[in-house]
Amino acid sequence: MRSLAFVVAFLLVGVSYGEPRKDYAGAQVLRATPENESQLHYLRGLLMKNVYDFWTEPGAVGRPVDILATAFQLPVLKKTLARLGLDFSVHIGNVGDLLKESRIAQERAEAHRQSSMDWNSYHRYDGIMAWLESLATEYPDLCSIEDVGTSYEGRTMKLFRLGSGPDTNPGIFVDGGLHAREWISPAVVTYIINELVRDRVIYSDLLSKVNFYVMPVINPDGYEYSFTDERLWRKTRSDTDSARGCKGVDGNRNWAFHWMEVGASDDPCSNLYAGPEAFSEVEMRVVRDQILRFKDNLKAYLTFHSYSQLLLYPWGYTSDLPEDWRDLDSLAQDAADALFRVHHKHYKVGSVTHVLYEAAGGSDDWAKGVAGVKYSYTLELRDKGHYGFVLPATEIIPSGEETFEGFMVVANFIRDHYS
Ligand SMILES: [Zn+2]
Repeated sequence: MRSLAFVVAFLLVGVSYGEPRKDYAGAQVLRATPENESQLHYLRGLLMKNVYDFWTEPGAVGRPVDILATAFQLPVLKKTLARLGLDFSVHIGNVGDLLKESRIAQERAEAHRQSSMDWNSYHRYDGIMAWLESLATEYPDLCSIEDVGTSYEGRTMKLFRLGSGPDTNPGIFVDGGLHAREWISPAVVTYIINELVRDRVIYSDLLSKVNFYVMPVINPDGYEYSFTDERLWRKTRSDTDSARGCKGVDGNRNWAFHWMEVGASDDPCSNLYAGPEAFSEVEMRVVRDQILRFKDNLKAYLTFHSYSQLLLYPWGYTSDLPEDWRDLDSLAQDAADALFRVHHKHYKVGSVTHVLYEAAGGSDDWAKGVAGVKYSYTLELRDKGHYGFVLPATEIIPSGEETFEGFMVVANFIRDHYS
């Protein structure tokens, strides 16, 4: 009995304190679709309790919600959903197996790499930065790179600039990798850069009339942690005051525009933790300062996330729409149409609140509401939940191909209307 008590006490300590590495063996992602307001309300409450990792959040009746539960948590979650009368299906049968397969594929791809940069596997932070450096060295008339800050753990953050014209040209600011586990985001952002640089002769007119300011991985500490320790890590890696030792802030709840008003958490252990104050996270301050630096010329801001295949515009903090929402909507529809034509992937277009859920403190809201960048968009890339965040690297190139076409619609529009 004494030893049993010891084991129980040990398990409780393990669950309650520190940050034990999660065991995903037998973990599943369940998909549940709320059919009425009370089910939706309950799921919102469950999200805020911070027991489960919600891969997508409850936003509206009829919209499916993906919830990860460990093998230990599964029976309780299934019972809870059944009690609510919520229909659910097992969307990913064994997250542990999926992670193992993706790790093996990643290691194999790394072993067979022909060059320092490719789009057959996901790349580490240093590799991506070194590649950007090499572009700036090779094409000094077209690209440049600059150290613009340091992450919480001391990684150098860089701004990559692409364009052959003057600084006064209209600009598009692009960032990726805000959420660590969304690996497809930096992969697609670098794919777009590569296309523009490789085919610089074809795109010479665009590149002479529009400047691109790009930061492919704006949460470098979290991104690296998702490679080395916890594949499904989302937040930054800053220390919090959490008694349980929970680390990190949700960078996309940390921006100073209607901060903490809705859809964010004040619990440092939550994946939606907004931070102790707006812009508590140094990485978000670094990006903020770069946007402010060029804001007079910036016409578009594109931030890349995953997953769900959505093209979203402000606002996230309210269900009201910006006055010029029709302009944003029509350009986004054109981009989604161009994207669709490549591999027939459907992207839904709408405001964050209307398509997703109310969430304040996002970078897209801030870019429009504070920096005054008119065309501010969040892209949620592939897929629709089949692999979720663990998207196979074989989908990088097709994702890049289709996203590039959507991106070009925005870029050409900015050239045609502002240069
Ligand atoms: Zn995200």
